[in-house]
Amino acid sequence: MPTIIDGKKTSAEIKEEIKARVLEIKAEGGKTPHLAAILVGNDGASQTYVGAKVKACEYVGFESTLVRLEETISEEELLKTVEEINENPDIDGLIVQLPLPKHISVEKVTNKIKPEKDVDGFTPSNVGRMALNWPAYVAATPYGIVELLKRYEIETSGKHCVVIGRSHIVGSPMSILMARNGYPGNATVTLTHSRTQNLPEIARSADILIVALGKAEFVTADMVKPGAVVIDVGIHRVPDSSKKSGFKLLGDVKFDEVEPIASAITPVPGGVGPMTIASLLYNTLLSAEKKVYG
Ligand code: NAP
Repeated sequence: MPTIIDGKKTSAEIKEEIKARVLEIKAEGGKTPHLAAILVGNDGASQTYVGAKVKACEYVGFESTLVRLEETISEEELLKTVEEINENPDIDGLIVQLPLPKHISVEKVTNKIKPEKDVDGFTPSNVGRMALNWPAYVAATPYGIVELLKRYEIETSGKHCVVIGRSHIVGSPMSILMARNGYPGNATVTLTHSRTQNLPEIARSADILIVALGKAEFVTADMVKPGAVVIDVGIHRVPDSSKKSGFKLLGDVKFDEVEPIASAITPVPGGVGPMTIASLLYNTLLSAEKKVYG
């Protein structure tokens, strides 16, 4: 039977560890970690995500500040708000919920966030530090995958890792992390994308297959080597009248087919997804304890 890599359980464990550390910090008279989130506009999904982040902060004992701004705010005003939070010594971490309205440059806003407070790990400084294998805030999804591999003691050294998808937020950082000299890492990595030829053949040669291309049930059993570790990052909501909610969630991997031949696999839902908030909390704690930039 393959190991089901349980992101929900692991994420809950990480939250408990962070909560315990916050209690210690408070008992030692230290400063309570503080995360600030900027939410622009009234997008329903963004409100839900930010709400969940604020709730998670409360759960582990962090302070949180939610700055809500009108959809019509100018880029200049938003940049000013970022700058104010950058300079506020009480705040350890800052996230700007994406997407932003079209008239605002995500690049400019990301670049304005002080790298020391960039707990989403999106600034060039943190991406560069990660690539250099320096202490860095690693972005949520790659952090989640790394943490799952660690906690499930998946051997990565000398293995062939195939990553499907080269996005800035998932595939590319994963390829860097799996190739770096450390654990998890020391894998021989093949990074694939939409122009890759013979993808099924390449995927079949993977000891560790990380799938993040955004196509529901793309990876089928014939693309997976028996005994491979399969990490499914994809999330798709598809209509399903048999469900009370009217939909079900699918990954980029055809789970029913692939699960029997894998040695370990992340389910969807309940695999990589639940790890993202744990990552944000972890990075905020690192910032409060000055563990990345000193
Ligand atoms: P993205 O930015 O759309 O990038 C998709 C990547 O897949 C691109 O590099 C693209 O290649 C490649 N690709 C597309 N079709 C392909 C094909 N037929 N064969 C090989 N490669 C192909 O996606 P993303 O943001 O990384 O997200 C991927 C999936 O993960 C989505 O389902 C998303 O919802 C999910 N996701 C989940 C989480 C989580 O927390 N669980 C977090 C982030 C994303 P090109 O570069 O050549 O276009």
